[in-house]
Amino acid sequence: MKDHLEEVLGREFKDPKKNVGKIVVLLTREMERYPTPSVTMISWQKDPYKVLISCLLSLRTRDSTTIEASKRLFTVADTPEKMLRLDVESLEKLIYPVGFYKVKAKRIQEINKILLEEYKGKVPSTMNELLRLKGVGRKTAGITLVYGYNQKEVAIPADIHVHRTANRIGFVKTKNPEDTEQELMKLVPKELWGDYNNTFVGFGQNICQPITPKCGKCLITVYCIFFNKSVKPLLKEKAVKFGF
Ligand code: SF4
Repeated sequence: MKDHLEEVLGREFKDPKKNVGKIVVLLTREMERYPTPSVTMISWQKDPYKVLISCLLSLRTRDSTTIEASKRLFTVADTPEKMLRLDVESLEKLIYPVGFYKVKAKRIQEINKILLEEYKGKVPSTMNELLRLKGVGRKTAGITLVYGYNQKEVAIPADIHVHRTANRIGFVKTKNPEDTEQELMKLVPKELWGDYNNTFVGFGQNICQPITPKCGKCLITVYCIFFNKSVKPLLKEKAVKFGF
């Protein structure tokens, strides 16, 4: 314990921006040991429609709830045509208890209608077209393109986990996920964009958690501005106080 603490406190801080590639690769490997985020699991089926709908379901909803609701829904209806045969109440029941399930059920049916009328039942494959769909923001559009269409170099979809971790580590200094995405796109090497969301959603859910980050389990303390500015001084104080 004492030796480990001494070692952690003795490590010299390294600029996270200059080591961004190394950090993304390291954490991508590390996150293989943790549960896969729900939308990524759904993306393995390589169906942009399922990715789009499950991403809409996932907003303000726990991953386990999203997965279960997506499974229930896609077993009954996995295309816009099939889903439109359901009335909104049936759809609500299938996706309950995802957050805002009533609003989402209505939105999903509006989107299904547009997909059928304007895109022959297919999900559009460009950012601009996706953003025209009501309820689809930059993050959902990015996830659909990156994980549904495998267009890895068009976006780094940023949710609250991506936003929080990037600011804590010191990759960016931003106020919202939209700006975080733009700044990350300037910083992260393009070949790593496809891994970024998946890796940092998992990292934010399991290690760099919102209220109490698990810095003791983190592999990148040496690069993290938050750790070096806020956690390390406290650890040093404690070490002195308890005579470590
Ligand atoms: S050291 Fe702590 S705050 Fe920094 S990235 Fe790791 S878990 Fe998050």
